[in-house]
Amino acid sequence: MKISRQQFLKFFGLGVVSTALAEKFTLAWPKLASAREEINKMKIKKIEIFNFDIPLIEPFHIAIGTMTAANDVLVKIITDSGLYGLGESCPFAPITGETQASNIAAARAIREILMGKDPLAIELLMEQIGNIVHANPGAVAAFDMALYDLLGKVANLPLYRLLGGYRSSFETDITSGLNTPEKMVASVKDGLARGYRQIKIKVGEDPDLDVRRVKMVREAIGPDIPLRIDANQGWSVPQAISALKRMEPFNVQFVEQPVLASDISGLKAVRQQSPIPIMADESLFLPSDSTKLIREEACDYFNIKLMKAGGLLNSLKIAQVAAAANIQCMVGCMLESKLGLTAAAHLVASQKNIIFADLDGNSEHQVDPVIGGIKVEKGTIHLPDGPGLGCDVDPAFLKKMRAV
Ligand SMILES: [Mg+2]
Repeated sequence: MKISRQQFLKFFGLGVVSTALAEKFTLAWPKLASAREEINKMKIKKIEIFNFDIPLIEPFHIAIGTMTAANDVLVKIITDSGLYGLGESCPFAPITGETQASNIAAARAIREILMGKDPLAIELLMEQIGNIVHANPGAVAAFDMALYDLLGKVANLPLYRLLGGYRSSFETDITSGLNTPEKMVASVKDGLARGYRQIKIKVGEDPDLDVRRVKMVREAIGPDIPLRIDANQGWSVPQAISALKRMEPFNVQFVEQPVLASDISGLKAVRQQSPIPIMADESLFLPSDSTKLIREEACDYFNIKLMKAGGLLNSLKIAQVAAAANIQCMVGCMLESKLGLTAAAHLVASQKNIIFADLDGNSEHQVDPVIGGIKVEKGTIHLPDGPGLGCDVDPAFLKKMRAV
């Protein structure tokens, strides 16, 4: 067979390229194979647990409690390969029933379960941690977060890319805690001045006062800024229906948890009569709660939090159950440091149906003990590029904390 000069050059050229590629991969494959072997043998060698205490600038008030500091727990899972993962719990007793002391006790128990195990078998490890998630979801979340941090580091990818990679930045709201309407207006205006373009305010006290709060805040921010409200279980069913009807003129995007967490039929009754969409928050901890809420048609949206779900594994399950039921979600937070907020941001960035974010938990912290992690620019959160969570804890800060 005769071929033209042009055809000869084309085939010869391809041959050179493919030979070069083959050589590259022949060199790279053994390295990859040995790295994979090492990863497959990797074991959890040591787990450090710290009290992680961050003072607040001002006490934070909601309908069911007040926090004066973020008394958190930090977990560091160290493997025999030298890689480590970090996780944080932010116990908020009025919502999850946990305290720092109960989280520390749970963390000691979880440490016993995880020592010597394969850190990448996350689903298996979570199964072994078992029902601790019912009493101490925050403690479980800290370990789950640290395991996912490790997974991302092993894959050498930012976690959100590993989990779905839907977006790399998004907007968060800024929240005003409960206060006089005048002080809440001032707080909301301060948020707008700092560049935030979505506002959340706490309500759930006296319904008449709450209507006034919403009216005054809406008048202060103008008609175009999205305004969402959170009653934190503070109303009875009739109070919620009446208050939400009176708030209709103020264009409220949705209301979080108008009634008691355990009252799913009450939540449904409010939804049937409210002109404002309903988001389940305290009624939604675990994936099993999400199926119950869907079956009862009790809400329009879900608020997922790592601290309620016991971490990313369960949060992803909730988001995917929601996606299958055509429910869109928000990811919220307690008063985590930038470490916990970064983990939550990876979740938001990974999933299409997480369209709202309420990740301003450290805005009232006196110090930021975290290096790297998310960057917040005028209410837009940008995910970090580094592997895993993409952040670390400042060693100087950690030195001051008590190891358990
Ligand atoms: Mg809420």
